[in-house]
Amino acid sequence: MEAGNGAHPQKQAHDPSGLLAAHESIAGKFATQGDWRRAYEHLRAALELARSATACTRPHIPEQFRLEVEQLRRERAQARRESLTDSLTATYNRRYLDRRLADLPSPSVALVDLDLFKDINDRFGHQVGDQVLQRVVGLLQQSLPPGAFCARYGGEEFVLVIPDAPAGTAVSIAERARAKVAEYPWERVQAGLSVTVSVGVAPHPQHPADPREQLDEADSLLYAAKRAGRNIVAFRDNGDLRLLPTLRAHAAGPCP
Ligand code: GH3
Ligand code: MG
Ligand code: MG
Repeated sequence: MEAGNGAHPQKQAHDPSGLLAAHESIAGKFATQGDWRRAYEHLRAALELARSATACTRPHIPEQFRLEVEQLRRERAQARRESLTDSLTATYNRRYLDRRLADLPSPSVALVDLDLFKDINDRFGHQVGDQVLQRVVGLLQQSLPPGAFCARYGGEEFVLVIPDAPAGTAVSIAERARAKVAEYPWERVQAGLSVTVSVGVAPHPQHPADPREQLDEADSLLYAAKRAGRNIVAFRDNGDLRLLPTLRAHAAGPCP
């Protein structure tokens, strides 16, 4: 039976939304004629069309494809992590350091260098030397407050970056790190082994500064700590060179 509105469901089969509208319209006509059964049949047909149209527009992603995309995402995240991490010590590397220093507004930096590390390699072998580097990194990290980080600058040198810290805080953190390394029971790693570090601290400047200049300042202070006898933290107080721990630095005599 044709409801007489000119709409023909079969002719609109290529157009699901047109077909759906036609079924609805026919259902309405039957309803006005009191033919509820046919009105119901056309409404059911409209409902089926609406359901299948929704299923067709939702993209079907095969499981295999979804798993491959997930694996690629994981591999990309791992590659990114590895590109910013030192493979021996698992701390951040120079690339990460350079990026962060370019972004951070004037953090404090401390340059940490293992004392007479070449001798450790020569006496105990490179494997023990590698182990020492790993433990030292662990101890440095334990000394840092949240938000600060440690990065391998190169060889046996590490940089501690401490954002938002007053000058005194950066020096205390560096001194804590120095003491932790000096007091670690290195004998347990290797009989006869002892390890110390020297540190130069360049506290955050009053005005934004070139991070390379800050690292240069930390480097010259590190040199002062080495000259003063090693196992020492060097920093400036109103331009004057200061060394920690005070007694040992005093015993080491005047410094450049
Ligand atoms: P100083 O107290 O003046 O810093 O003396 P140093 O012996 O620590 O300094 P030097 O620059 O003479 O020697 C650094 C040594 O660090 C030489 C190099 O073989 C060693 N080194 C650098 N990277 C690594 C590493 O990844 N593993 C090991 N085992 N040794 C390393
Ligand atoms: Mg060095
Ligand atoms: Mg060294």
